[in-house]
Amino acid sequence: MSNKVQEFMEAVKAKNPAQPEFHQAVEEVVETLMPFIEANPKYAKAKILERIVEPERLIIFRVPWLDDKGDVQVNRGFRIEMNSAIGPYKGGLRFHPSVNLGILKFLAFEQVFKNSLTTLPMGGGKGGSDFDPKGKSDNEVMKFCQSFMNELFRHIGPNTDVPAGDIGVGGREIGFMFGQYKKIRNEFTGVLTGKGREWGGSLIRPEATGYGTIYFAENMLNRVGDSLKGKACVVSGSGNVAQFAVEKINHLGGKAVTLSDSGGFIHDPNGITPEKLAYVMELKNVKRGRIKEYAEKYGVEYFEGKKPWGIKCDAAFPCATQNEISLEDATKLVNNGCKLVSEGANMPTVNDGVQVFLDKKIFYGPGKAANAGGVSVSGLEMSQNSLRFNWTREEVDEKLQGIMKAIHEQCVKYGTEGDYVNYVKGANLAGFVKVADAMLAHGIV
Ligand code: NDP
Repeated sequence: MSNKVQEFMEAVKAKNPAQPEFHQAVEEVVETLMPFIEANPKYAKAKILERIVEPERLIIFRVPWLDDKGDVQVNRGFRIEMNSAIGPYKGGLRFHPSVNLGILKFLAFEQVFKNSLTTLPMGGGKGGSDFDPKGKSDNEVMKFCQSFMNELFRHIGPNTDVPAGDIGVGGREIGFMFGQYKKIRNEFTGVLTGKGREWGGSLIRPEATGYGTIYFAENMLNRVGDSLKGKACVVSGSGNVAQFAVEKINHLGGKAVTLSDSGGFIHDPNGITPEKLAYVMELKNVKRGRIKEYAEKYGVEYFEGKKPWGIKCDAAFPCATQNEISLEDATKLVNNGCKLVSEGANMPTVNDGVQVFLDKKIFYGPGKAANAGGVSVSGLEMSQNSLRFNWTREEVDEKLQGIMKAIHEQCVKYGTEGDYVNYVKGANLAGFVKVADAMLAHGIV
């Protein structure tokens, strides 16, 4: 780490104590940006880096609700409005007991660069709560979502801040929050994305993050005349992103052999076929069961409390959560012959693990580029809401593929180092330039 980066990081840590995930996300970006900023003094002079790590606005609020027993529960709600230089704040809501300010700030920070890469006019934000939807009844989830929106509604709007889903927030939660917003505001607008098809949602939005992650991998491989066809793929998670990643791996002729949840992972060497995937979708989205049940149903191995990175594969797709690939896991993957990692999750690999992928020169698509398909189709949902018009499935999918290709091209343009494409550097630089130039144009605000 250069002295400049070290100095910068010391200031960030002193100002934002006890937020390790935020420090990690900032450090990864600043390390790749610093040489560029030194070569372009206009950014240093306007203190763009110092401004970009400071949220424009932080909102923290109480979320009280009544559980089914009639007892009062209290959670904490957050919305981080990170950067609006190129469009309204945009980014998901996460409901998970681990949610805290530092985690949401890391996510909001990454979102700024990701949204810039999509080529669409969206600023960056993120939010959520330490509420755990697991084991709650539909009624309890609804009560919580309504209380959450009772405060959030005054901070968001279709031209201000447009939240979407993330971990623990899917179609059910978006529905409850949209219903409450509509009731309070007495208006039907595209204030949230990930809405149901019949009430303003876009086709392909549920699929978009998973599909986009696989399209990004295919773009990396196509560049050197290869493809996912016939490749063994290890996937983690079994939620929204993982499910549609597996679906697209199947479409492209690859073979997905693992899925996981916070309990452990299943290994199905014969591949998670469309029929088996349909079972997973029913298990996870309707019955809200555990991935262990897959192993019982199909007679495959289940590894309790373990992650799938020790399974031999050609390509790996982390689609669960942050820091799920440790330095040891990254080393195991490359030593077992894994040649490609495309991140469906946000920051799933620790920084030392990322360095292993770069040193070994494997194809490595960092989350802010590889999983940008989700927010891209959210952007397309906003456009359709403004037009009051719906595009077909084929039209949205074609636009998504075009956006993932454009993101890939920007990474290649900014990240090529000799015969290797450093997609981390490419994504960070390409994402930064657009936002930084807009900030320069807007003056000191
Ligand atoms: P879901 O809630 O649908 O699924 C999350 C999956 O990850 C579940 O299988 C869950 O298991 C597992 N998981 C969550 N936390 C942990 C943990 N601490 N340890 C182990 N497993 C865990 O979320 P999504 O699929 O929407 O999100 C997955 C990742 O993708 C996140 O990093 C998210 O930020 C990122 N992402 C999502 C986008 C979207 O459009 N939804 C867009 C871009 C990125 P369990 O059920 O046991 O908790």
